[in-house]
Amino acid sequence: MCPLTLQTYLRYWFYNERWSCTSGKHEGEHDRGRPSGRGEQRGEETRVTQSAERFGAKTLDGDGRPRYDVVVVGAGAAGLSAALVLGRSGRKVLVLDGGEPRNAPAEASHGFFTRDGVQPGEMLKIGREQLGRYPNVEYRTGRATQASGADGAFEVTLEDGEVVSARKLVLATGVFDELPERPGFRELWGKGVYHCPYCHGWEMRGRPLAVLASPGTAFDRVALIRNWSRDLALLTDGEGGLSGADRRRLDALSVPVYEERISRLEGDPARPGGGLERVVFEGGAALEREGVFHVPPQRQRSGLAGSIGCELAAPVPTVEFVKADPMTRETTVAGVYAAGDAVRAPGQSVVLASASGAAAAYVLNHALAIQDAKDEVAAAPSAKGDLGRAAG
Ligand SMILES: Cc1cc2nc3c(=O)[nH]c(=O)nc-3n(C[C@H](O)[C@H](O)[C@H](O)COP(=O)(O)OP(=O)(O)OC[C@H]3O[C@@H](n4cnc5c(N)ncnc54)[C@H](O)[C@@H]3O)c2cc1C
Repeated sequence: MCPLTLQTYLRYWFYNERWSCTSGKHEGEHDRGRPSGRGEQRGEETRVTQSAERFGAKTLDGDGRPRYDVVVVGAGAAGLSAALVLGRSGRKVLVLDGGEPRNAPAEASHGFFTRDGVQPGEMLKIGREQLGRYPNVEYRTGRATQASGADGAFEVTLEDGEVVSARKLVLATGVFDELPERPGFRELWGKGVYHCPYCHGWEMRGRPLAVLASPGTAFDRVALIRNWSRDLALLTDGEGGLSGADRRRLDALSVPVYEERISRLEGDPARPGGGLERVVFEGGAALEREGVFHVPPQRQRSGLAGSIGCELAAPVPTVEFVKADPMTRETTVAGVYAAGDAVRAPGQSVVLASASGAAAAYVLNHALAIQDAKDEVAAAPSAKGDLGRAAG
């Protein structure tokens, strides 16, 4: 008999086993790790049960808890995108939706190819509906409250107390913006107060705008926002320390500087196209503005990454990211991947978050596929012998 190489075996497995779509497996049963011989030695029954396990209903772990290949925590752009790729890879996926996507306050989401100007909730609704095509993807509303375990055997506790297990985790839990606790900021967030000019700069172009920034980043932010409007003022909200050089540069660009602390923002959040009317300072003076660009401090929306042991990074005190490999999106905990705003990226937007979620899913599925193949090779007695002989 010819020695069976790993490559030959994988090629056989890929074409004959992995994609043979049939049904017939009962819920709760699973065959992972069950010895499987080569094609001519394996009957139709084996193929049927293994394929059904792969694409069918959920499995249970040894303790009778639902067991998934992957739990995706968070169902914003990053989480839904990761779930879609994983669903289409035949993985058993649980998606948990805490229901607080970051751009929810905005009236429209801009800058996503084919989806420019769509309502943020509408994008997510379409994303959830399209996941419905994949019976191997389960979507649930509610938060994950705890995560523990290690690669291949994680446990996630859900809001209602149920515990599920998973081989891998994707944390797509986003961030929370810490806006100044003064009237108008929260109300006008996404409706006149914006963090991202790529998302809202076009709609605000040429209008009277302000940049709210600390002295250290002020010139940089002004230089960027000026791209969309030259009618610009800098607000430092009572923070001193703007350097003489920056003052001269801002003066040369005709950007007035207001250093007084802001008392409140006034306007009408319900007005379409942005409702900010004015910035009112503590001394009572007001500055008429239609938009304020401000990058507030942000923190992780979920404590899960920290609680499972993922390292966080704070390149500056006002931001906090989950550390993840820029290529693989794997965090410092093996088997835990992070995507979207929760990790460091060139920017924060729906399209970047989606790409990040998809990238994490590609890498993660590949890791699972290799693991599955190795497990099957190890469990196949005849293959073991052949491989042993080949190695010898
Ligand atoms: C006001 C505003 C307007 C914006 N406008 C635009 C725009 O026009 N265009 C654009 O491209 N980008 C825009 N953005 C940026 C965009 O919102 C983010 O980049 C994007 O939402 C990031 O997606 P994400 O999936 O990483 O995080 P999110 O969209 O924040 O989703 C994370 C999800 O995870 C959930 N979650 C957190 N913890 C848990 C848990 N423990 N269990 C279960 N679920 C959990 C949250 O509830 C949330 O639903 C805007 C942002 C803001 C603040």
